[in-house]
Amino acid sequence: MFRKILIANRGEIALRVIRAAREMGVETVAVHSTADTDAMHVRMADESVCIGPPPGTDSYLSMSAILSACEISGAEAIHPGYGFLSENANFVQAVEDHGIKFIGPSAEHIRMMGDKITAKETVKRLGIPCVPGSDGEVPDVEAARAIGEEFGYPVIVKATAGGGGRGMKLANSAAEIDTAFRAARTEAKAAFGNDEVYIEKYLGTPRHIEVQVFGDGKGRAVHLGERDCSLQRRHQKVLEEAPGPSITPETRDRIGMICANAVADLGYEGAGTIEFLYENDEFFFIEMNTRLQVEHPVTEAIMGVDLVREQIRVAAGLPMSFKQEDLQVQGHAIEVRINAEKLPNFTPCPGTISQYHAPGGLGVRMDSALYDGYRIPPYYDSLIAKLIVHGRDRPEALARLNRALGELIVDGIDTTVPLFRELLQAEAVQSGDYTIHWLEKWLEENLH
Ligand code: ADP
Repeated sequence: MFRKILIANRGEIALRVIRAAREMGVETVAVHSTADTDAMHVRMADESVCIGPPPGTDSYLSMSAILSACEISGAEAIHPGYGFLSENANFVQAVEDHGIKFIGPSAEHIRMMGDKITAKETVKRLGIPCVPGSDGEVPDVEAARAIGEEFGYPVIVKATAGGGGRGMKLANSAAEIDTAFRAARTEAKAAFGNDEVYIEKYLGTPRHIEVQVFGDGKGRAVHLGERDCSLQRRHQKVLEEAPGPSITPETRDRIGMICANAVADLGYEGAGTIEFLYENDEFFFIEMNTRLQVEHPVTEAIMGVDLVREQIRVAAGLPMSFKQEDLQVQGHAIEVRINAEKLPNFTPCPGTISQYHAPGGLGVRMDSALYDGYRIPPYYDSLIAKLIVHGRDRPEALARLNRALGELIVDGIDTTVPLFRELLQAEAVQSGDYTIHWLEKWLEENLH
C-alpha cells in the first residue's frame, strides 16, 4: 500500500479522498491555490502545498505545479478526484513518466473514451448498444444534411471532445440543420479547441441511466448497478438516484453484465461510468466517464462499498475486495447537488457562510467542505455540498430527504436548497416517472 498520496483537487471531493485514505492508514497531501488557503481540504490533509494563484488554469490545472508538489512532499500516487485533470490523458502520462502512480485508468483508456467518436466505435465492438447516428465525424454541412435525411429528424449535433453539456445542438427539421451544425462546431472549438462533431438521432423521451463499473486493470471487472440521472438542467445533473426506478433486476443484470464484460475485455483499471439513454426498454450508449463521478455516493449506499478505497487499493496493485456476486442492491439512495446559486436563474452566488448546520441521523450523508465563516471563492464550480440519503425503499428515501433538507441550514448565500424542497413535492418525483426533459419543463412552470 502507498505510504502517502496527493489529492489534485479541492472541495468536497478532496475531503472524500482524504477520508478514505485516512481509514486506510495512508497519509495525504492537499494542494491548494492562494484562494483556498483556509479551505477544509487543506485543514484536513496531513500536509498541504500551495500550487499557485486562484484561477484553475494556474493552480488545479497546472500539471507542473502538481508534479512539483508531489516531488516536494514525496507522495507516491495522485488521486485526481473529478473535473480538473481527472480525464486528461497527457497529465496521466506525465505523472507516470515521473514514476508516480495515477489513481485511475491508463492514459490510453482515458484518451480512447475522451474522444466520443472513438469511444462509440470502441464500445460498439465490445457489444454495447449505441445511439443510431453518423459513422464517426461529420465533416461539413452537406454531410450533416445527408445524415438528417437518413435517420430522420430530430437529430442532435455533438462535439467529439464534448463534456458538461457543451457543444451540443438540436435540429428539429432540415431547416435547422445548417445552423445547428455550425453552432455546435463553433461552440466546440471555443470550449475544447476541437471542432470535430458527430450526429445522433435525438431521442424524445429517454431516461439517463448510467452503469457504474470497476476493473482491476488485469482483466477482472464488475458492475455495481445503475443510477438514474434524468433530472437535468441544461444537460447537467441535478438529482440522482439508485437503483433506477424504471429498471428491473433482470434489466440491471443484462446491461450490467454487458458493461462489466466490455470493461474486463479492455483491461480497464479503477472506477468508470458507462452512460446510456434508455427508452422503450432499450439502452443507447452516449459516453464513458473514466473517473469517479459526482454521484458515486448513491451507488456506495445501495452496494455498501467504498469506491475511493477500492480505487486506491487497485492502484496499489491489490486485488478488488468484492466479486460480482457480493454486489446486491440494498434499498434506495438519492443525492441532491447543492450549488451556491441564486434562483430562478441559477446565477453563481459565492460569498461567506454565516451559519452552517448539516443534517444527520439514520441514512443521511452530507459530503461538503463547508464550515461556519467559510468564504466561497468565486473561481471554481458552484457545487458546495451533496446531500445523500439512503432508505429501505424509495418512499423511505424520499421522506428522509425531505426531513434532512428541513434540518439543513446554509445561511449567508443563496443556494439551490429551496429548489429541492419544492421539487420533492412534485408528483413525477414522488412516483419516479420522469424523463430527461421533465425538469426543464417543470422549472419553466414553477420557478419565476
Ligand atoms: P456531456 O459529455 O456534455 O455531458 P452527453 O453525451 O453525456 O454529453 O449528454 C448529456 C445529456 O444530453 C444526456 O444526459 C441527455 O440529456 C442529452 N443527450 C445527449 N445525447 C442525446 C440524444 N442523442 N438524444 C437526446 N438527448 C441527448
